[in-house]
Amino acid sequence: MDLLEYQGKQFFASYGIPVSAGEACQDVDTAVAVANRVGYPVVVKAQVHTGGRGKAGGVKLAANEEEAREHATNILGLDIKGHIVKRLWIEKASDIAEEYYMSFTLDRSAKKHLGMLSAEGGMDIEEVAASTPEKISKIWVDPVDGLTDELAAQWVDEANLNPQAREGAIEIAKQLYTAYTEGDADLCEINPLILTPEGKVHVLDSKVTLDGNSEFRHPDYQQYDETQTRDEREEAAHAKGLQYVGLDGSVGVIANGAGLAMSTLDVINQVGGSPANFLDIGGGANADVMSGALEVINDDPNVKAIFINIFGGITRGEEVANGILEAMKRVKIDAPIVIRLDGTNAEEGRAILAPELNDMLMMETTMLDAARRASELAAG
Ligand code: GDP
Ligand code: MN
Repeated sequence: MDLLEYQGKQFFASYGIPVSAGEACQDVDTAVAVANRVGYPVVVKAQVHTGGRGKAGGVKLAANEEEAREHATNILGLDIKGHIVKRLWIEKASDIAEEYYMSFTLDRSAKKHLGMLSAEGGMDIEEVAASTPEKISKIWVDPVDGLTDELAAQWVDEANLNPQAREGAIEIAKQLYTAYTEGDADLCEINPLILTPEGKVHVLDSKVTLDGNSEFRHPDYQQYDETQTRDEREEAAHAKGLQYVGLDGSVGVIANGAGLAMSTLDVINQVGGSPANFLDIGGGANADVMSGALEVINDDPNVKAIFINIFGGITRGEEVANGILEAMKRVKIDAPIVIRLDGTNAEEGRAILAPELNDMLMMETTMLDAARRASELAAG
């Protein structure tokens, strides 16, 4: 669950982390009223689920009411990387002496929480990580031990921040770690964390991802559901009861069972292809389910080939084969399909498909060969 900047700041504030006073709004007149209430100068900020808003013209300082109106008018409706701005956050503007970066996330391979801190904040941290990785101070926190005072201080000292920022940064590091762990977050990022000319350390931006599975512990997280932006493909698939996750590649994937669907993605990657999605059709591979799945995959313009990977269990091979053929009559498919059918009554299923094969419907016996064929077709 991704939070908007202002939601992330309210989340931070509930753990005592210093943020600027402000209010969210959705139209120009309210924006002006809010700006008047907050007091000038203010920052008018686009609230969208993407970063780089500053560069896209979505973050503007306003010295007076006239400027606040102008910026609110321009930012509302702005397209930032495909996200249309429908909400603004207006906060008291801060004076900035220095901009830092601080975050916590999970390092799965280390089985620890990873904290990153850099004196080079404000800009793209990926860029800092790529060009000057030594400028990011990292700590790995064992979830059992937690972030001790000692570790927090050591981390901050290694980052070479302005000495004036030391105490404030240590305090925020501990608060951020608490917010991240107690709040069941997958990511808590502050960029920039600023040092003001008065020597205060303060949050200027937030990026927070919460674990949606923890909602039972945090009933208030339900409020974030309504502001979620979901992948259109995912919406369509979920409406059909399919387990679907959109990806960036060109091989559409239909598999039965989450485990098989995940291995299918791995195998496609292994042969040099790139999956367009994860899609688990679950237990029943009948014509209705298969049609729904094919519709969703077919609607994705990036899909250049489709890999149907079915292991018959309770659903027998001939039912699967008939389901696929029936679904192909219902949905006009634009991309070639490669089928791998195995498991219960696979022979019978393959025999049903065999006479129907052509250059839009192909069959392979192994998962690896099918993945290779689909990936080659997708590559053109
Ligand atoms: P992002 O571009 O989406 O990461 O949005 P940010 O909230 O990080 O804002 C982008 C940049 O705008 C920051 O790095 C700051 O340099 C600047 N900015 C944001 N808020 C303020 C503010 O209160 N005062 C000043 N002077 N600059 C600000
Ligand atoms: Mn930022």
